[in-house]
Amino acid sequence: MRIDIATLFPELMESYLSASIIGRARDKGIFTAECHNIRDYAFNKHRRVDDTPYSERQGMLMQAEPIYRCWQAVCDMLRAQPYVIYMSPQGRTLTQQKCIELSKKENLFILCGHYEGVDARITDKIVDEEISIGDYVLTGGELPALVLIDSMARMLDGVLSERDGYEDESHFNGLLEYPQYTRPEVWDGKRVPQVLLSGHHANILKWRHEQSLITTAKKRPELLEKLDLSEQDLAIIHNYCENKQTR
Ligand code: SAM
Repeated sequence: MRIDIATLFPELMESYLSASIIGRARDKGIFTAECHNIRDYAFNKHRRVDDTPYSERQGMLMQAEPIYRCWQAVCDMLRAQPYVIYMSPQGRTLTQQKCIELSKKENLFILCGHYEGVDARITDKIVDEEISIGDYVLTGGELPALVLIDSMARMLDGVLSERDGYEDESHFNGLLEYPQYTRPEVWDGKRVPQVLLSGHHANILKWRHEQSLITTAKKRPELLEKLDLSEQDLAIIHNYCENKQTR
């Protein structure tokens, strides 16, 4: 997978993309991420990329032309058109399913806006999809782009070790993850659940699944509505809810 990122702050992106798990994955060649400074495509004296909006609104807007040239340069270099994402508070909210879907693309071009956003004509011309990281507004698309890249990269083979597999993690199968414990066995008078010390693999798997259902019912019950749960799963949730009421 190759990701090209159009931004006004390539150094900001680079520092995150070079660190920790994501940096190691890039070093190993599991995926490529290249940052492009949109200013390098502004052919005016002061490398200006913004101007005032026609709507008489305050603030500045990113111009279409430097972004278009940046995208064109990437297309020329790839000899293909990448799938183009504009990070935007107006887009669909990012989900785990979307991360999985996008992690299968060969070439992605991510556009990070700034100021009041970008000239609408550039989104009409090149953007395939707008993605938001939540219903609030940030000053730029860099943090949202990093959120997207990080969450996609974790889905690529070889990024996480097998032991850290993402398939048990929250949201992968629509449920939240079960509670996790580490040493010591007793902390603050509280014991690690006995089943986890038993070494009985089948019982541990059963416990994990039950606890995932209960954790989801406790913290994000609305997620359960989207799932096609078995009679057995429904009974576990029902029991949890009954116990909660009688407590
Ligand atoms: N005027 C725009 C609006 O009201 O829709 C908001 C522009 S925002 C101040 C500047 C840039 O930050 C946007 O172009 C976008 O790239 C990015 N951005 C801000 N909030 C975001 C969010 N929730 N998700 C994704 N990108 C966001």
